[in-house]
Parts: sequence; structure tokens; C-alpha cells
Amino acid sequence: MASTDVIRLICAVIFILLAAIAVCTKRRYRKKLLKKIVMPALVSIFVFISTFVVLPSVPSDGVADIPDSSNFQVHFIDVGQADCALVICDGQTMLIDGGNAEDSDLVYAYLVKLSIDKLNYVVCTHAHEDHVGGLAGALNYATAETAICPVEDYDSRAFESFIKYLGNTDITIPEPGDVYTLGNANFEILGPVEPSDNANNTSIVLRLTYGDTSFLFAGDAEVSEEEDIIMSGRELESTVLKVGHHGSDTSSSWEFLSAVSPEYAVISVGTGNSYGHPSQSVLDSLTVIGATIYRTDISGTIICESDGENVFFSVEHNSINATLSDIAG
Ligand SMILES: [Zn+2]
Repeated sequence: MASTDVIRLICAVIFILLAAIAVCTKRRYRKKLLKKIVMPALVSIFVFISTFVVLPSVPSDGVADIPDSSNFQVHFIDVGQADCALVICDGQTMLIDGGNAEDSDLVYAYLVKLSIDKLNYVVCTHAHEDHVGGLAGALNYATAETAICPVEDYDSRAFESFIKYLGNTDITIPEPGDVYTLGNANFEILGPVEPSDNANNTSIVLRLTYGDTSFLFAGDAEVSEEEDIIMSGRELESTVLKVGHHGSDTSSSWEFLSAVSPEYAVISVGTGNSYGHPSQSVLDSLTVIGATIYRTDISGTIICESDGENVFFSVEHNSINATLSDIAG
């Protein structure tokens, strides 16, 4: 029986009860009946409606309602010392960064392999080349429905190439609190909260939610942007954290990691990079927080699937290589 049917039935019972009292009882008993029977009955009915009729929009096991046919994956594509993540949910897609310009062919080939010629969202977290560079390759194969970026202009060849391949798609500069849907998932913009002269601190930080699982993509946000985001009071706790700025110690303050409290941390970082990323102090903090750490320099491309309750990781460089091939097609 639908919720509305239950409410109609309850209203009918109340009406009949009140009508019966009005018609059948003597006036001196009505007040007593109202006090002893009708009012307790109304309170009970109210509690029943609150508990079993109104609240069932939140399922009893606490898991948000996701159809059995729904699916969700995040591909943390190994682009060396750079960032690139592809989110696929129910046939809708979002590419967050594209690696360096030299990764254009790799990103192009990845999309071709998965036959993704339409990206619902392209997010350029910020204008540095290791994030915007390979987006031109992606856009050489796929069209972008919505392009999200903190700036419309930036003086670099990589950014100009990104704009060129976007074609007629305008850049959307989002505000914190903006929410977008991606299949049965949705994501909220957390930052940047304040403007900054440091491009890293203009990083679009977003939190993606799918059922009871969540993913926080921190771009290259450094400590000051992390502080702004904490102060904004938005929900940060997430199942998976794409660690900020390739694991640099200029990001991932203890306060931020505590607020996110990730079960899993993914670091997109190049083997033997000259920056010394990831920082040992960040690795130590993540370990103390209790996060299982995945690194693209060790594992190659990392794929995370969610069923809405739990997440499952597959990595390129280990004994479950075959699993990755199966997922990536
Ligand atoms: Zn970067």
C-alpha cells in the first residue's frame, strides 16, 4: 500500500470515529471520550505516520535508494606526476582533470577504449598544466556537456588548447554549495571558497555521493583552501579521498584529514618525481587516520567501484591485473 493510501485510510478512520462520537453519545460523555480515547488515538496515529509513513523515504537500513541496475566507478588514471580521474555512473560520465599535455594521447585512448564520446562534465580543477594539459586530448574525442573550471582565462598554451577543444561549450565557474547530478550520484562543490593568487588554492574541490559512499576530490588545494572549506561547515566526511596536491605536505593538514576521515586515500603521483611527493608526513597522517592508501606510482591506474554501501578497488600493477582489464573492458 502506498504512503498516500495509508494516510487516506487513517483520515477516514479518524473521521468515522469523530462522527460516531458526535452521533451516538450523550453530550456529557463526549468530553470524557475525547480526552480518554480520541486524543491518545490521535497521538498514536501521529507517531505511526511519522515512523512508518513519512520516514520510509529514508530506507530502514539507512542505505539511500539506488536501483539494482545502477553502477558506479571511479578510474584514477595513471598519468604520472599529474591528476586524472574518470567517473562513470549509470552511463553518465565526468572527467576530473586530464594529466599533462603529454598525456593527451593516453586520455584520448582511454576514452576510446570505453567508447565514451560524450562527457557530461569536464572538470578542470585549476589551470596548472598537470591538470588541464591532457583535457585537450579527451575533448579531441569526446564532447563536453558542461565544463567546470575556476577561471575562464589563463596564460598558458595548455589552457588555451583546453579552451580551443571545448569549442562552443562555455566554462561554468561554480559556487560552493552548487550541486550537480550524475546518474544516481550527485556532487557538491566545496571550494574554492575565497579567491587566491596561488592557482593551487583556486582548485575546485568537490564531494561526490553515491548511496552511502562518498568521494572527495581535493585537486591541488593547499592548507589555506582546506581551512576555508572546513570553516564553511559543509559535510566533508568521505569514504575515499583523492589526496590533495599529489600528497604534498603543503596540503592535507591534520584538521582537514580528520574532517574527511577517509577509509581509503588515493594519491595521484609520478614515480621518482622531483618534488618528493608524496610527503612522508602526509603518508603518516593518513596511516594514523586509518586510511588504506593507494598510489598511482605503485599501482598504476586504480579503479574503485561502489555498490552504494561499500567500495571495491582494483589496481593495474599487481596480481589482480585481470580484474582491472575486465572492468576497463
Ligand atoms: Zn597538480
